[in-house]
Amino acid sequence: MVSVMRKFKPEEGTDEEAWATRFKTTPIAALDLEVFVRRGLTVHVVAPHPDDEILGAGGLLQRFSRLGARAIIHALTDGEASHPNSAMWPRLKLIQTRREESLEALRTLKISFERRRLLLPDGALPEHESTISSALRDAVSENDVVIAPWRFDGHPDHEAAGRAARDVAAERRAHLLETPIWGWNRSAPNQGEMPLDRARRLDLEPEEQRRKAEAIARFRSQTDYDLSTGRPPILSSKVLAHFRRPYEVVFHDQL
Ligand SMILES: [Zn+2]
Repeated sequence: MVSVMRKFKPEEGTDEEAWATRFKTTPIAALDLEVFVRRGLTVHVVAPHPDDEILGAGGLLQRFSRLGARAIIHALTDGEASHPNSAMWPRLKLIQTRREESLEALRTLKISFERRRLLLPDGALPEHESTISSALRDAVSENDVVIAPWRFDGHPDHEAAGRAARDVAAERRAHLLETPIWGWNRSAPNQGEMPLDRARRLDLEPEEQRRKAEAIARFRSQTDYDLSTGRPPILSSKVLAHFRRPYEVVFHDQL
C-alpha cells in the first residue's frame, strides 16, 4: 500500500484514541443516505490499491447494497509496489495475491459487485490522473455516488485518485464522498487539516462491523510480517485500529 515515494513511519502517526476523543467531544452529523438513494443507483468505489475499497468503504458498500444500489469497484492498481526487494513477495506474486485478496474481501461483505482493473502502476498514479478520469467519466452517471480517497490523504496515489474522482463527480453531477485512509494516521485532530466541518458519519451495525473486520483480515499480504526483509506489516495494528471503529467518516459537499 505504501509506495517508496514518501517516507513515513505509520508507528509514529496518530492513535485512534485521539480521533475517538475528538469525535466524542465534538460529534459529527450523521450521513443521510436518503439524499442519494434512488432506483438504479450505482455506487463507484475508487481504490488506488487492493484494500482501500474495504478500509475506506467496507461499511458504506454494505449499506448501499442493502438499499438496492449496485457497486462498481475501480481497482486502479494491483498494489505491486507494496514490498520492494522482497524475496517473499515478488511482483507477480503480489499482483496475483492482492487481486485475489480484494475479491475475497468483497465477497465477504455479501454484496453484489463488479470489480474493474485499470492496471495502472502502483506508486505512479499522479502521472496517470487523466487515465483515471477518463475511466471514471465513462462509468459515472448523474446522481451516482462516487466514493474515493480524500484528496489530501498523504499518499500521492490516493491524492491523485481523489482529485480525479472529484473532477469527474463535479462534471457528471454525481455525489462525491471522500474517505480518509492514511489520513487518519498522518493527520491529527488538532492539526486542522481535515475538513471536519463537512464530515459525516455512518454508524455501522454489529453485523456490518463484523463483515468489515472479516474482509480486512483477507489482506494477509498487508497484515503479515515480511520474513524475507524483516519489515513489519504495512497494515499494523496501530493503523488498523482506525478501521475497527464502529462507524465510517466521509467528507461530503452538497451538490
Ligand atoms: Zn492505498
